[in-house]
Amino acid sequence: MPPSAKGWAPISVRAQVLEKLQSRYESKREELEKKNIRSFNSYVTDILAVLVERDEILARYAPFMSEAGIFENRILIDDKKKGEFFEVVHKNKELFCRGCERSDCLHVGFAYSIPLVNKTLREEGAQEPKLRA
Ligand SMILES: [Zn+2]
Repeated sequence: MPPSAKGWAPISVRAQVLEKLQSRYESKREELEKKNIRSFNSYVTDILAVLVERDEILARYAPFMSEAGIFENRILIDDKKKGEFFEVVHKNKELFCRGCERSDCLHVGFAYSIPLVNKTLREEGAQEPKLRA
């Protein structure tokens, strides 16, 4: 679909997803207004932009990483660049990489981006890690 003169273009999503988005939007309206997000379309656009950005960052910085397994509170990451497995531990609302002994390495960032891990951390009210290369 070509974008309109105002820079918006329609897309289709599953009705079930749309309902979830609408209910999230309604429940977060006040909070969103503070971020200058004043319409449902802006809300969805913002979510998608953040996801795409995260995906781009991972593709750029961590194309050599993959999830090797999740065991209770441990996430095993296969780092093909270093030729090693790294264990990231999820404890006290935080991720910590045992291999690097840091909570801000790319392994932590990669683990954070795994949807299941991300969902659990968000439900705990954890903050997104600030990464350093
Ligand atoms: Zn690490």
